[in-house]
Amino acid sequence: MDFSLNENQLMYVETVRKLVKNEITPHILEMEKAHKFPWAVIGKAWEMGIINLSIPESIKGFEIDVISSALIIEEISYGDTGISTSAMCNDLANVVIARHGTKEQQERFLRPFAERPILASFCLTEPAAGSDNSLMTSFIAKRDDGSYILNGSKCFITNASYASQYTVLCKVGKPTSNFMACVVIPVEPVTAEEIPDIGNQTREIILPAGGKIIIGKPEDKLGQRLSNTASVTFEDVIISPDQIIGDRRFGFKYIVDVLDYARPMVAAIGLGLARRALALTLDYTRERKQFGQRICDLPVARETITAMWKRVELARLALLKAACKIQERAEDAGIYASLAKNTAAEAAIFCSAEGLHLHGGYGFTTEYEISKLARDAHIVDIYEGVREVQNMIIGREIV
Ligand SMILES: Cc1cc2nc3c(=O)[nH]c(=O)nc-3n(C[C@H](O)[C@H](O)[C@H](O)COP(=O)(O)OP(=O)(O)OC[C@H]3O[C@@H](n4cnc5c(N)ncnc54)[C@H](O)[C@@H]3O)c2cc1C
Repeated sequence: MDFSLNENQLMYVETVRKLVKNEITPHILEMEKAHKFPWAVIGKAWEMGIINLSIPESIKGFEIDVISSALIIEEISYGDTGISTSAMCNDLANVVIARHGTKEQQERFLRPFAERPILASFCLTEPAAGSDNSLMTSFIAKRDDGSYILNGSKCFITNASYASQYTVLCKVGKPTSNFMACVVIPVEPVTAEEIPDIGNQTREIILPAGGKIIIGKPEDKLGQRLSNTASVTFEDVIISPDQIIGDRRFGFKYIVDVLDYARPMVAAIGLGLARRALALTLDYTRERKQFGQRICDLPVARETITAMWKRVELARLALLKAACKIQERAEDAGIYASLAKNTAAEAAIFCSAEGLHLHGGYGFTTEYEISKLARDAHIVDIYEGVREVQNMIIGREIV
């Protein structure tokens, strides 16, 4: 086993670090307070080729391997996990098309992302179907002319207010069906020109083929305030058969596939955040003196910093193993994806909470970035499957 990065991977890390150092870190607290959608950073990331990682080369995408993708997302997350969540969401929505779509579907639904900086949403969660997505009730029903009609509501959807395309998981035939389908709905493209910032507004999209999509007001979140999260309602949306990805009964299989890919990416988000918390805490405790010593030299504080470093390194090991397993499409990739997600979420929460503590009263103010990280960290333990669901997967596999 070799932990060294290849030339390409080193180049990606270097490129993203430059973006983070120049465009994110110096302004992050003002950006977060202003709560404006970070189109400028997303546009630059698109120009640099570090978003839309899963789009095949055949349609001018970068088709970046899983390990490199994780490294890129970790580095963006070192700058801000709201921005990386928004960027990563394009792959969350598009990887299913890249893996299971026909050549025509890939051309139609993925090429626009290679051509301009636009965003996608992955619509799985519903108000009554969170961890247990089999409870979803959004569904497509077949019409006499062979097309389908989609109705239902999704919640907590990343990028929803700005999305140019929605990948939607829904039941087939009736809300209680055992079958799930994956449908793709492209809409009029949205860039910074069309919607610079949605503010507190809703968005209504009338579809030329029939029906409408209503996006709720953005959620006012505890953390990751630079990502956009909103509800999405589909009202009588007409879906043609060529908008259905793969077999219309295998949506659940595709969700598992997407989540196995996405969980290490969330782990990368957690790892980036944990690393940033450790770096900020080292800087602060090297500077500040109490009891005649730098705080980092006080034995009990040193022990806490050591524990933070250990969490970061364990998260990195778990992430690399999961990424390798997914890259080689190993049968047991799922258990390692869950392990990586839980280990990184623990690292993010631990390092930001302990880091805040080592900043003392200053850490509790909004002047210090560590307080933002402590707010941001919690969602890593929740989205893409809460901690308990990951443990359920791990338990099921080992027993
Ligand atoms: C900022 C943000 C962005 C998001 N982005 C997206 C997105 O782009 N697309 C999308 O589809 N969804 C998205 N989500 C939704 C997210 O994936 C869900 O919130 C998550 O899966 C949990 O579902 P829930 O909130 O309904 O919690 P519930 O499922 O109601 O769970 C609540 C709590 O119950 C406990 N629990 C749940 N299941 C178990 C179990 N099996 N055993 C023991 N305890 C359990 C856990 O403590 C859990 O935290 C996002 C959410 C947020 C907040």
